[in-house]
Amino acid sequence: MSQQGYVATPPYSQAQPGIGLSPPHYGHYGDPSHAGSPPGMMKPAGPLGVAAPGGMLPQGPSPPGPQQFGQNGAHAQGHPPQRFPGPPPVNSAAPSYTPYSPSTQSSYPNPASTASVTQMASQLNAMHINSYGSGMAPPGQGPPGPPSAPLFQGLPRPPQPSIMQPGSQVLPPPPTALNGPGASPLPPSTHRQDGLPGPAPLNAQYQPPPLPGQTLGTGYSPQQGSYGPQMAGGQLSYPGGFPGGPAQLAGPPQLQKKLDPDSIPSPIQVIENDRATRGGQVYATNSRGQVPPLVTTDCVIQDQGNASPRYIRCTTYCFPCTSDMAKQAQIPLAAVIKPFATIPSNETPLYLVNHGENGPVRCNRCKAYMCPFMQFIEGGRRYQCGFCNCVNDVPPFYFQHLDHIGRRLDHYEKPELSLGSYEYVATLDYCRKNKPPNPPAFIFMIDVSYSNIKNGLVKLICEELKTVLDKLPKEEQEETSAIRVGFITYNKVLHFFNVKSNLAQPQMMVVTDVGEVFVPLLDGFLVNYQESQSVIHNLLDQIPEMFADSNENETVFAPVIQAGMEALKAADCPGKLFIFHSSLPTAEAPGKLKNRDDKKLINTDKEKILFQPQTNVYDSLAKDCVAHGCCVTLFLFPSQYVDVASLGLVPQLTGGTLYKYNNFQMHMDSQQFLNDLRNDIEKKIGFDAIMRIRTSTGFRATDFFGGIFMNNTTDVEMAAIDCDKAVTVEFKHDDKLAEDSGALIQCAVLYTTIGGQRRLRIHNLSLNCSSQLADLYKSCETDALINFFAKSAFKAVLHQPLKVIREILVNQTAHMLACYRKNCASPSAASQLILPDSMKVLPVYMNCLLKNCVLLSRPEISTDERAYQRQLVMTMGVADSQLFFYPQLLPIHTLDVKSTAPPTAIRCSESRLSEEGIFLLANGLNMFLWLGVSSPPELIQGIFNVPSFAHINTDMTTLPEVGNPYSQTLRMIISIIQQKRPYSMKLTIVKQREQPEMVFRQFLVEDKGLYGGSSYVDFLCCVHKEICQLLN
Ligand SMILES: [Zn+2]
Repeated sequence: MSQQGYVATPPYSQAQPGIGLSPPHYGHYGDPSHAGSPPGMMKPAGPLGVAAPGGMLPQGPSPPGPQQFGQNGAHAQGHPPQRFPGPPPVNSAAPSYTPYSPSTQSSYPNPASTASVTQMASQLNAMHINSYGSGMAPPGQGPPGPPSAPLFQGLPRPPQPSIMQPGSQVLPPPPTALNGPGASPLPPSTHRQDGLPGPAPLNAQYQPPPLPGQTLGTGYSPQQGSYGPQMAGGQLSYPGGFPGGPAQLAGPPQLQKKLDPDSIPSPIQVIENDRATRGGQVYATNSRGQVPPLVTTDCVIQDQGNASPRYIRCTTYCFPCTSDMAKQAQIPLAAVIKPFATIPSNETPLYLVNHGENGPVRCNRCKAYMCPFMQFIEGGRRYQCGFCNCVNDVPPFYFQHLDHIGRRLDHYEKPELSLGSYEYVATLDYCRKNKPPNPPAFIFMIDVSYSNIKNGLVKLICEELKTVLDKLPKEEQEETSAIRVGFITYNKVLHFFNVKSNLAQPQMMVVTDVGEVFVPLLDGFLVNYQESQSVIHNLLDQIPEMFADSNENETVFAPVIQAGMEALKAADCPGKLFIFHSSLPTAEAPGKLKNRDDKKLINTDKEKILFQPQTNVYDSLAKDCVAHGCCVTLFLFPSQYVDVASLGLVPQLTGGTLYKYNNFQMHMDSQQFLNDLRNDIEKKIGFDAIMRIRTSTGFRATDFFGGIFMNNTTDVEMAAIDCDKAVTVEFKHDDKLAEDSGALIQCAVLYTTIGGQRRLRIHNLSLNCSSQLADLYKSCETDALINFFAKSAFKAVLHQPLKVIREILVNQTAHMLACYRKNCASPSAASQLILPDSMKVLPVYMNCLLKNCVLLSRPEISTDERAYQRQLVMTMGVADSQLFFYPQLLPIHTLDVKSTAPPTAIRCSESRLSEEGIFLLANGLNMFLWLGVSSPPELIQGIFNVPSFAHINTDMTTLPEVGNPYSQTLRMIISIIQQKRPYSMKLTIVKQREQPEMVFRQFLVEDKGLYGGSSYVDFLCCVHKEICQLLN
């Protein structure tokens, strides 16, 4: 069921040996001078034993040597299906592993979500965008000359009928489509030569549209097409939406041919196909290298020896055996790890293993934790480590006999022997200062400067806290939350509050020395909410009045974080600061900022400065916070530039979340804010965490992206990590991998629970290895690839010109596809574009990434918004990044009121809309309800309870409750879409042909961008041309 001709060949035919791509052209991997890692991007061979500050992780010895698996190849097969002769029944209600009590775990069963924050890089190393070899694609390297003649001449090949399924899932544009002739005041989504001289508009040269399934080819000039408004400095090789001046249009005007959008791979079709084949089923993780269902497919996951894809997803589930192969294909080898992912209630939560004072069983050499990859030998007295091959004695308390196939008799009774994921109770060795941690504290810090009082924000926050504090997270078996709370307000000075339960009135203490903040009280500052409830409510009632007459406009910011951290330090506990802030902190104090937003930097080599913090105060503050387990979550309410790049740094590096509400208006935005606040307070979270990735021999983790901090090359430190945060890890070879032993990954997170228990959470995953490129391509996951590309690119913007980053992305896309074409696909005409099945939608998703405002150098987009989105993406998991880059667009007018299943999504293009239709669009941050001018009145009545289109009030941010099935179903669908996402999406009602439609149209990502960025069709053509050049 390949899609429309783009996978015209058996996708995974045998590699054709001997056709290597000629190296020198595609940057890094190919360039012999960069055969190794580029300087600065590869971490030194991992000192596994480097101490974490605070000595939280017991140290391991030096890394294992490069030896391969010896005779334990069989073991290394992971869990071949036959090892599970009778797989436990997939019964969500009855855990398969009855011997342990399932009620003991699941610290994170809460479906709450969040996501954000980022990781910053300056302290990692000089960041070149990784995995791109030298990190610098010389702009002049391999710029497209005139298209090579044989490739771009001749007529398109006729479609291969057996391959096509014309329009099988994509709705053809209705006759009244927006860009129908003369119908719409909007610029049609067809392509203009904005700013480019030369040929007449496309239409003039328009040829009869190709048949569906028709291949790319012939006469197309990728240098034409719809490349965004032209930008300065064009020596860009890739016109696709990027700076490209006329000077680059080297080739003569080409015959233009516009592809039929229905003939190119559709994300919707790929998503729907996967749902159709794998949706609603049980996915058991019992075999090595298995490619899981897509993130968009709902299924039940059963842990049978490998971590659930909810915890770990990989860019490919089959690693190439050698680094040469990896360089040849240029497919990044990476895992996106969400260690605290929310598990649906019909899946088994994690078991908790408690070995008492003995603590977890670990390999003596590499310190890997006991897991299904350990092979027991010598009658059960010893075991060989799957990661470093070291043979260890089994500790006496852990001894067990083996059965006739060499498996321990208690195999199914011990989670750590048979499951991919589980938790250990950590012993005192794993605690700071060898003593049990105190439960965490939450400190609420409210900016009470003039504007926040005046617009009612302070009152809103205080009112909300009175109810939401009842919902502080707690351990499952506990009745009340162990989390203590404290309160600070601030403008130019800080006010601490004593809310001790025996006080009749709260007491305020003012700290005016913001240069060196100290904590003026210990007793009574952090309290149990239940015990001090009346004093706290009293305080929350008083705060808005207390500052009602204040005219103070200036605020501090760094001292606020400092104060919170010092308070946690004094109380000797980890915790989280909730800061509610509105303005650029201009008051005299450390971390004081000035307005340095300079649009003139855009499109220059200095553009990166806009993404960097303006002072190093925040960097060192973040470091201190991480060292003390202080996570910072920031709610920002800016009405102008506030320097998100600086203010957001600490939240980013401490595993916190940044929420931003531009021009906050009480009646429009409070619901969104309150939902975010509730969700953030209630969500399950682990504190004072340190993560370590161990791998089997031959490869290792070399780079990390996320809300993390690293003092060395291996220990990933996080002040906190919640259920929505993901860390993306890149791997590189340092030796050959063996096909029989595969590639094993173990992620261990040591952390403190919300109840103050020290635990280890372990996730194990086994991948295949192959010396066949085709196997590698077959096992790729495009959604994870895009997550990796986005994070590596967004990390690189701090250090490299955006133009270079965009070029590298386009280069690498073309290279990956060209390598497939050359080595894996069946022979076919050169003009044919052939995409591997697993990467069918790579070009469209890559184009969405390239068009994201972070990478798009346009003065129209606010600097703060770009810094904000950069930060958000850095901690996203795969599902969130997929939706963020390719929004969900639902034709609501086709809603079936008898079902809560949302209608099948359609592609994000204006041509898919119709003026008789109503469409819902969501990307995880924003939600729009778009109404065509001829929307059926009965639907308008059903949704809004008004008689006509003209009567609809677009000011609302939630739909009214109208008592009919249509309204109920729609509201249900909206809430289902919202539920799975970390951020509350503000609903915007958009009427066709009214001003706000411009905002909505930015999310129609298959079309040419409003501010530049090519359409999907044009980008595909551009990539195809690059591929053709590479193949020549
Ligand atoms: Zn080991």
